[in-house]
Amino acid sequence: MRRSIVAIHVVALAVWLGSLAFSFQVAGRLFGGARKPVCPACLKTTTETETLVVCVGCGALQHQACAKARNGLCSLEHLGLRECVPPDENVLGKLRKIVTPSLTGTSSWTRVRRTGEDVPPERRLLWRLDACTPALSEKKDEGESKSRFVPGACFELPYPAVGDSLARVFEGSQVLGIILGVIGLGTAFLTRPGGAMRLMRAGALALALGLNAWLLFSLSPDIAAKRLALDAPGAPTAEEKAAFGKLHGMSLGGSVGVALLVLTALTLASVRREDVVSSETATA
Ligand SMILES: [Zn+2]
Ligand SMILES: [Zn+2]
Repeated sequence: MRRSIVAIHVVALAVWLGSLAFSFQVAGRLFGGARKPVCPACLKTTTETETLVVCVGCGALQHQACAKARNGLCSLEHLGLRECVPPDENVLGKLRKIVTPSLTGTSSWTRVRRTGEDVPPERRLLWRLDACTPALSEKKDEGESKSRFVPGACFELPYPAVGDSLARVFEGSQVLGIILGVIGLGTAFLTRPGGAMRLMRAGALALALGLNAWLLFSLSPDIAAKRLALDAPGAPTAEEKAAFGKLHGMSLGGSVGVALLVLTALTLASVRREDVVSSETATA
């Protein structure tokens, strides 16, 4: 009986830790494909210093050299004009008339398909950004002089969809965390080592559970409300952007905190009774 309780305790903590590690991994992977635009021809991330050309038919931006290698034609599958030209104001102005920005003020993304079978099929479907929200068009990574979110830029994943997906991933992981936390805390009192070690373990688990509940019931709804404000026709103020960044930092910090507390509890649970006894005799 005691053995199975120990197993339940350790497995609950290990799965909790594993689910957190998994959600961090998912976040890294998704944002990796959503932050930097790629050239739809060579599928490499475009840099600020490279010369890009724009397709007069669909508006997709691509490397000048890549378009040249394709007889100056667009690398995406579509009907109509496919010539790629330097993106001057005249061309962009005409394109803006073809691609109407979303009426709700949210960004517009189109699923596009790359021509040619020289790359694996899973890399041939991309997303073209056709219209930006003011918030997205101001979004810059460190070291960038201007935003990479410009109409015509192609991405592996649409940025807002990554945000929506991750909100659900984290919500699922937090719900699972609460269930496993209750199991872990309940079984902590029935498993060895006891005494001060058990108190520390139970304390770490109670703290992790509390932090997890705060993330799920208080912080996540706040972040959702702030995201809604960013997806609007008007540009966000500096304060709004700072507040959003701060909440995201708190959410990341909270999740890392939960992971560290669960790891501590798991380490304490793996200390064997004989080790505790021998160290006690050694200090005595
Ligand atoms: Zn290219
Ligand atoms: Zn095109």
